[in-house]
Amino acid sequence: NKVITLNSRPVGKPQLSDFKFEEVEMPQMKDGEVLLKTKFVSVDPYLRGRMSDAKSYVPPFELQKAMSSGVVAEVTESKNDQFKVGDFVSGSLEWKELQSVNPEHLTKVDDQIAPLSNYLGILGMTGLTAYLGLTEIGKPQKGETILVSGAAGAVGSVVGQIGKILGCRVVGIAGTDEKVEFLKSEFGYDDAINYNTTENMTKAIAEACPNGVDVYYDNVGGDISDAAHTNINRFGRVIVCGAISTYNETEVPTGPRVEGFLIKKSVLMQGFIVSNYAEKFPEAVKQLAQWLAEGKLKSSETIVEGFDQIPQAFIDLFSGKNTGKMIVKI
Ligand code: NDP
Repeated sequence: NKVITLNSRPVGKPQLSDFKFEEVEMPQMKDGEVLLKTKFVSVDPYLRGRMSDAKSYVPPFELQKAMSSGVVAEVTESKNDQFKVGDFVSGSLEWKELQSVNPEHLTKVDDQIAPLSNYLGILGMTGLTAYLGLTEIGKPQKGETILVSGAAGAVGSVVGQIGKILGCRVVGIAGTDEKVEFLKSEFGYDDAINYNTTENMTKAIAEACPNGVDVYYDNVGGDISDAAHTNINRFGRVIVCGAISTYNETEVPTGPRVEGFLIKKSVLMQGFIVSNYAEKFPEAVKQLAQWLAEGKLKSSETIVEGFDQIPQAFIDLFSGKNTGKMIVKI
């Protein structure tokens, strides 16, 4: 039974040596527990924050202890009446091949409704983050322009599609020409910009958003966001979902200058953690599942195979190896 632990706290970009593979004993089941076999593991940018010991909204991972993230697992033995062998569950679980847990915080998921990996992506935290961040903070109106950074990633690819469903013009920013094409051909983006080959992002955004930016859904922060802020309209809304471009920085990053951007234009800028909206999850998942069933939303996933590949898949998020949700299949 293999487990992946945190070996050292990364300095800058995470390295394979920050993780350690260990063999542990087969778990002993207690009454009320289920024995779970890991099927799919989610790797997410926020795990980088938990690998450092800085105080945050979730406690840091402990050194030499198991890493954890969103997992879909199969019940292979059960000492709990509510769960039977063959059930699938999703929730926050350790990076272990097998584990015995009390399932009270786990959710049953159904592979007849959607592929199991979707519960870590479009029907999981990713879809909820995209939908609730956009609708609760951005409140886009029909005909408005939404700009999305990290647009070809897990959250970004869903934000753009929802923006189109809501009748907006949607423009994305991503790191390769292939992703830029994919945004337009697969996710319905009206236009897209490759930030790696564009010298003047402020000008490129202005050209792609002739009516300015009403809603900026920010997944990356840094220089890309400086250029986005310059193009924001009066009464614009900035949804600060993530700042992956700064997660590996060793110095405290500098922030936006607020006068021209926030004050003069009366812009709303709000950060959030998706769990702030926990009471809206059931309704939001229902909406996402309905759009998915109607073919209005497409799920996009990059699936890497093998338990041993979990750390590398995580590291690869920081060089954009994924399109859509990065998931490891065990
Ligand atoms: P993604 O699937 O978007 O993966 C990360 C992507 O970020 C990469 O594919 C890469 O795409 C891009 N990227 C990596 N490094 C940089 C960089 N230096 N500059 C610009 N882009 C970069 O991850 P998620 O969709 O899971 O998460 C997106 C963001 O949302 C993250 O910042 C994450 O922390 C945040 N988040 C916040 C939540 C909340 O509750 N607030 C919940 C979930 C996610 P490319 O090739 O385009 O560079």
